[in-house]
Amino acid sequence: MSKRFTANIRPIPILVYHQIAAAPPKGSPFRSLYVAPEAFASQMAWLERLGYQGLSMTALQPYLVGQKKGKVVGITFDDGYLNNLSNALPSLTKHGFSSTCYAVSGLLGKTNVWDGGIGIAQTPLMNESQLRQWVSAGQEVGSHTHQHIDLTVSNNDNCRLEITIGKNVLESVVKNPVDHFCYPYGRYQPEHIGMVDEIGFVTATTTQRSRCHAQTDMLQLPRVPVLRSTILPVFWLKVATAYEDRRKK
Ligand SMILES: [Zn+2]
Repeated sequence: MSKRFTANIRPIPILVYHQIAAAPPKGSPFRSLYVAPEAFASQMAWLERLGYQGLSMTALQPYLVGQKKGKVVGITFDDGYLNNLSNALPSLTKHGFSSTCYAVSGLLGKTNVWDGGIGIAQTPLMNESQLRQWVSAGQEVGSHTHQHIDLTVSNNDNCRLEITIGKNVLESVVKNPVDHFCYPYGRYQPEHIGMVDEIGFVTATTTQRSRCHAQTDMLQLPRVPVLRSTILPVFWLKVATAYEDRRKK
């Protein structure tokens, strides 16, 4: 029981990014999910300057459970965009940070087809060798299901399959354990938490907004969104103050 819950003293923000790239033209849907490479670079530089260490979910886990103490921030990327490798990795490397990128195992080397229906521009996702490059550069891969399905509208057998295949495929691609999960669209029900647990994930992240406080379910971790509009002073508020904690849905 205790292992399922966090026991950190200091609140821990887990940042969530999607694309690290110049934004598409004004009026495009979900433009807010693009963070410019320059903005990402200054956010990472700012973290280091203030003594924060940016960590992958595996490296963050001992802090979440209270075994380690320190000024740490989780860094996560949803969906596995190729622009994470090309535009985020240089800054992560420069500051000695690690991060977790949640990839969609059935769409490696393809595009964000699940967004097609709502008119979001199609952008390349990392392929197998790019994911291996990401990992050999010191970053981590987490799982985001096999096809980026909405668990809440799929039957249980399909959900279990999607969660299992996602883990197995990625483990065979990166030749490393894939212990961290992220619910697609942030949508899940209690039975999905049980599946993620049974299938062997150590943490699962949501789109619930908050920093992580003690006694949080490790399989329902809230995160702090960083958006195109997040200017540095707001980034600071999100990381270092209770700004996001009050935005709980
Ligand atoms: Zn996603």
